Amino acid sequence: MNLGQGFPDADGPADLLRLAADAVLAGPNQYAPGGGDAALRRAVVEHRRAHWGVTEDPDAELLVTAGVTEAIAATVLALVGPGDEVVTVEPFYDSHAATVALAGARHVTVPVEPPAFLPDPARIAAALTDRTRLLILNTPHNPTGAVYPRALLEEIVRLCRERGVLILSDEVYEHLVFEGEHVSLRSIPGAREIALTASGAGKAFAVTGWKVGWLAGPAELVAAVRAVKQYLTFSTGPAYQAAMAAYLPRGEAHLVGQRERYRATRDALVAGLRAVGLEPVVPDAGYFVVVDLAPWGVTDASAAVRDWVREAGVAGIPVSALCRPTDDPADAHLASWLRLAFCKSEDVVAEGMRRLAEAAPRLRRG
Ligand SMILES: *Cc1c(COP(=O)(O)O)cnc(C)c1O
Repeated sequence: MNLGQGFPDADGPADLLRLAADAVLAGPNQYAPGGGDAALRRAVVEHRRAHWGVTEDPDAELLVTAGVTEAIAATVLALVGPGDEVVTVEPFYDSHAATVALAGARHVTVPVEPPAFLPDPARIAAALTDRTRLLILNTPHNPTGAVYPRALLEEIVRLCRERGVLILSDEVYEHLVFEGEHVSLRSIPGAREIALTASGAGKAFAVTGWKVGWLAGPAELVAAVRAVKQYLTFSTGPAYQAAMAAYLPRGEAHLVGQRERYRATRDALVAGLRAVGLEPVVPDAGYFVVVDLAPWGVTDASAAVRDWVREAGVAGIPVSALCRPTDDPADAHLASWLRLAFCKSEDVVAEGMRRLAEAAPRLRRG
């Protein structure tokens, strides 16, 4: 039961898939415009206005990217160079760290602690130096499911404006919020001039392989990112862009239905973990539950996941893989924590929890 990698085990809505198939047959099949299909850019701007109350110019302030991954990479490569520092929350998404390394910059982290997993603005302030160029945020947060409240974002924006730091906000789980409300960073007063937001269709519409993402930001920063994108991918599959452009304005029912399905699999996963004596943090959003294996005597979840695969046939990801590497894995931040994905069918989650319960006596250490 693969509860490790965060991709859905059911494809997105059939009418969306049909739109892409039709678009392949009818065309376009040649290079899309580098900045993205004009109809998709307009649809994304309208989507962001309707959902998050931000208005952007579809020509100057929005760029279509090859997934959120490219939006992140192109932004970091465009804005950050050797000698610069980039601050992220820890745990962090792996590609945030990798692109900072590709840019030759120094990665500085601000650890977050259970159960809220919200960054302390004082710790962010302490992490900023004269060399800090960029703060990368991720709300809702992978892997913890934390949804950053408006007041926290306001404080972070105030801080970054004062200190001359740009912000990249990865909001790929914006539509997977079960409790509370997603606030898009660029809707915060004062954020527009210093903040870029990345999101995309993959997670929201269960088409992660399509790699349709976007980046919104101030015109001059988006122009700089577009110049880098020109030599990364240049452009993204035109049929997928056309399909998303047509579907986005009427995708609401899917978003609501998917949220309810994932709420049910989240709850099933949480119940299954509680039934074997673990205390997962119930996530407000996203694809994942994180759980401390310390009650089972585990100090290093990266070793425990191998036992889980062997004894229970259940795969997860140690949260330490999303934290700074350390010489001794047991010294990593959240070393005894495991991430399990619930963006899976009810059957897969139920079978995973059944096997876990069966193997639990062999997996507990002391
Ligand atoms: C899945 C994920 C991405 C990648 O998005 P793509 O559109 O597939 O490139 C980016 N950021 C976070 C936090 C993710 O979980």
